[in-house]
Amino acid sequence: MDQEITFEELGLAPEILDAVKAAGYETPSPIQAKAIPALLQGKNLLGTAQTGTGKTAAFALPLLSRIEFNAHETSLLVLTPTRELSIQVAEAIQQYAMKLPKVHVVPVYGGQDISVQFKALKRSANVIVATPGRLIDHLKRGSITLDKVQAVVLDEADEMLDMGFMEDVETILSEIPENAQRALFSATMPKEVLEIIDEHLGEYSEARIEGKTTTVENIRQRFLLVKSHDKMEALARVIEGEDFDGMLIFVRTKQATSEVSERLEARGFNVAPLSGDLAQTLRERTINRLKMGKLDIVVATDVAARGIDVDRITHVVNYDIPYDTESYVHRIGRTGRAGRSGNAILFITPRERRLLKTIEKATRQPIEAMSLPSAEQISAKRIANFQKKIQDKLTNTDLSKFREIFMKMTVELGSDIEEVAAAALCLAQEREPIFPKMEQLSTPKIREQGDKDNGGERKERKEGANGVEEGYLRYYLAVGRRDHVSPRDIVGAIAGEADISSAIIGRIKLFDKFSTVELPENTDQGVLDILSEMTIRGNDAKFRLMTDDAPPPKDRGFKGKKKFSKEKKPWSKEKPFREAHGDKPFRKTRRFGRH
Ligand code: AMP
Repeated sequence: MDQEITFEELGLAPEILDAVKAAGYETPSPIQAKAIPALLQGKNLLGTAQTGTGKTAAFALPLLSRIEFNAHETSLLVLTPTRELSIQVAEAIQQYAMKLPKVHVVPVYGGQDISVQFKALKRSANVIVATPGRLIDHLKRGSITLDKVQAVVLDEADEMLDMGFMEDVETILSEIPENAQRALFSATMPKEVLEIIDEHLGEYSEARIEGKTTTVENIRQRFLLVKSHDKMEALARVIEGEDFDGMLIFVRTKQATSEVSERLEARGFNVAPLSGDLAQTLRERTINRLKMGKLDIVVATDVAARGIDVDRITHVVNYDIPYDTESYVHRIGRTGRAGRSGNAILFITPRERRLLKTIEKATRQPIEAMSLPSAEQISAKRIANFQKKIQDKLTNTDLSKFREIFMKMTVELGSDIEEVAAAALCLAQEREPIFPKMEQLSTPKIREQGDKDNGGERKERKEGANGVEEGYLRYYLAVGRRDHVSPRDIVGAIAGEADISSAIIGRIKLFDKFSTVELPENTDQGVLDILSEMTIRGNDAKFRLMTDDAPPPKDRGFKGKKKFSKEKKPWSKEKPFREAHGDKPFRKTRRFGRH
């Protein structure tokens, strides 16, 4: 790895540097090393990066360093595709802003009671992290104004546009002051993203991580799909399930080296942390202990593990995904040394799925999916270990005193030798039961981008007697063609508001004044509650189940009053928003004379 630059050298504000230290980040990730200097200079930026590359800090650290925050003004706006991401990004920004005096970060997303958001916004919202649909709602109601925004960031632009937010994003961007700084992050560059870049990014610098291709022949690579909160449990099971000699586990931060190591130690593993925080001598000692076999597992950051050369390492576990393919290749190169074969296991959370593909491409090798060992497999391993330990005692220890006591006990208890031996075995395994009870960890679902890859699956679904797909229920939406609504808008609104996979959304039928959508019978009530408050293109969707006693209104006889049905920008007549912008019609797009 050649990025030797430090956070101190990047020119961040001292308060921000303090926050970075507190977060335990050792060095800037590649996208940070490229994006931070450009954003600090006030340039617009196009970042090609996906989740897991450290892109949130890549824009948040320089923008927080640069922006002059004023008490009741919204100075920084971040747009994200989903509510999950808006919460996550808001939390990260709040953390990076912790040493700045009073910077309030407010996440604004669909699905949450809007009045709760009104309150938070009223108190002050210096940074808003929003999903486009809900932000438009607030703009309509005048609860958010964007005229003081100094910087705007589009996070995961491709996902946002893929979910049908294109027009909303354009609308929002055209309301941002012309001189505001702009940054756009996207993992891929489809046509719609290029259009947004062309129309709204003006002159910009680029931060892109080059994926060098490398081959790593003698290493078997696997990945495990796991939810973030199950990672620790999954790690313990992987360690037990694998036949390994030495193991190196990679995490992102110094804190994580000690946290993960302590938790593994508590489970009885022979493990130590290794981070840049430790004095050089201590680091060397830890590596030596691993070499000598006095230690089996080391939990390290990239920096601390740089150049480790220990033949005994049979396994590298990427507990936290690396930022880029280069560090992935470097990490897994710590195993398979000296012509031996090695194993690399990569933990992937659903949001990080795209990095998997990038890595596969760069290493030109498929990474196999792996599953966790079952309770039976772990049981068999524990029994085998136990037997090995007994074998060891039989050969290496003088057992005469123990044999004497054992025989005495057998006589006093009046039991068979086998019975007493079984009871002793039972006692000895209590700390590490040889028949472990293990909770089933749920397999996370991967939301495929726009569900394009699953296109064929939909066609195979069977239709039930009532014309609805088997296993599905039909729901009514009070928006139709005359509201300029497309199926894409409906999928985008449902997937975005309720943060569910677009893959589970069934058939959509569009009528002039309403539409219907099919959702799985087992859809969570919480999801349905969220959807019942959903708006689509500014119209209350009045989402509800279609039952026999509540049929949809006849298309021709629909009497419901549409607030904004004919307007392209339905809220443009509403006061607060209009007032802020005079009588100009909506500027659909604006060019910045990109040179
Ligand atoms: P993101 O790509 O923004 O979703 O970030 C992924 C993860 O990397 C988050 O958990 C961050 O806290 C972490 N992270 C970001 N930058 C760094 C860094 N320079 N060093 C260590 N961890 C980082």
